[in-house]
Amino acid sequence: MDTLIATEKMVPLAPFTTLDLGGDAQHMIRIKNYQDAVDAVGWWKSQAQPMPLLALGGGSNLLVSDTGFRGLVVKMENADIQVLEESDGTVLVEAGAGAVWDRFVAYTVERGWAGVECLSGIPGCVGGAPVQNIGAYGQEVAETIEWVKGIDLHTAEAFQFTAIECEFAYRDSFFKKSVDRRYLITSVAFRLRPGGEPTIRYHDLQNRCQEEEAHTLMDVRELVLEIRRSKSMVYDKSDPNHRSAGSFFTNPIVDEATADRIEASLKPGVRFPRFEVEGGIKLSAAWLIDNAGLKKGFKMSPEAKVGLSTNHVLALTNRGGAKAEELLELCRHVQQVVKAAFGVELEPEPVFVGF
Ligand SMILES: Cc1cc2nc3c(=O)[nH]c(=O)nc-3n(C[C@H](O)[C@H](O)[C@H](O)COP(=O)(O)OP(=O)(O)OC[C@H]3O[C@@H](n4cnc5c(N)ncnc54)[C@H](O)[C@@H]3O)c2cc1C
Repeated sequence: MDTLIATEKMVPLAPFTTLDLGGDAQHMIRIKNYQDAVDAVGWWKSQAQPMPLLALGGGSNLLVSDTGFRGLVVKMENADIQVLEESDGTVLVEAGAGAVWDRFVAYTVERGWAGVECLSGIPGCVGGAPVQNIGAYGQEVAETIEWVKGIDLHTAEAFQFTAIECEFAYRDSFFKKSVDRRYLITSVAFRLRPGGEPTIRYHDLQNRCQEEEAHTLMDVRELVLEIRRSKSMVYDKSDPNHRSAGSFFTNPIVDEATADRIEASLKPGVRFPRFEVEGGIKLSAAWLIDNAGLKKGFKMSPEAKVGLSTNHVLALTNRGGAKAEELLELCRHVQQVVKAAFGVELEPEPVFVGF
């Protein structure tokens, strides 16, 4: 088995993550197609010393520890996109887990297929999208996913789960909850709407679309990219805030009594964003951080190499040359300050690896 598959040893993981943090991967295998994934799992299972396996896409939702990952990193680079069927005014398109997410979105928008246009500019790969059910500007990927395919690492057998079986929820799925990261996703199929109207539900996007007379899928994609760029929410190496994992905390869902208590404690006229959702009241993590006194650009000391983005309080950034431990310290500080101010726990959104 070792002779068939190319394994790399002690590969620095930082360059594979948008935070640019973390130590080495003990082993890495790059996957170009489904057979490579089968071979990689075979190699992993055949090792005398069992080790954990980490699927890696664009590394845009990962915080890797300074000591790295002692196990096998499977880097998904299978990027094929193919149309499986066109019927009843819809198209079913399958994309490899290693396809760059935004290239997939561009591909669909260029063809006039509606369904993922508001998810333009989200970093990462197709295989990472279902894991936390990516969402932005009024769309979630769960709305268009028909099925997710891959390999069950417990049995080494193929799986195919429907969207219902994926148990999608806000920034969550069956994959995210699975013990031992049990499922290696190799491709995802999306049901899209040729000639369909863009989704313009999100309030700010509605306003911008009206101002700019934006009506087409491409108009909406371009507006979303423009808004995201202004908040450093696209991965652009020329932006000093680019070393981040996007929003570092999810928006907390609290009970009504907690939301009422916070609202009652505010000075009259202070705007308090709260949204009724299934399971309670969703608060804005960005609002909580900002109103707890941590402002854009906050650093724990002038010489600190990590800080809040100067464009968005919700993004924790490596300003260059930082250690993962420093970012973790900043994460804990933000959590403590928000807890002390409002009694609310902020949950980190990225996956912590090797801690
Ligand atoms: C600037 C910026 C902006 C962002 N904006 C948004 C946003 O608007 N909305 C949003 O929802 N997210 C956002 N994110 C977070 C991130 O881009 C998404 O979560 C993305 O889908 C992660 O994909 P990835 O390929 O980079 O996954 P990775 O970071 O490589 O991995 C994340 C997790 O998914 C698992 N995983 C990845 N690929 C596979 C696979 N093939 N099989 C099984 N498990 C896999 C990994 O093991 C890990 O547990 C942003 C991040 C950044 C840096």
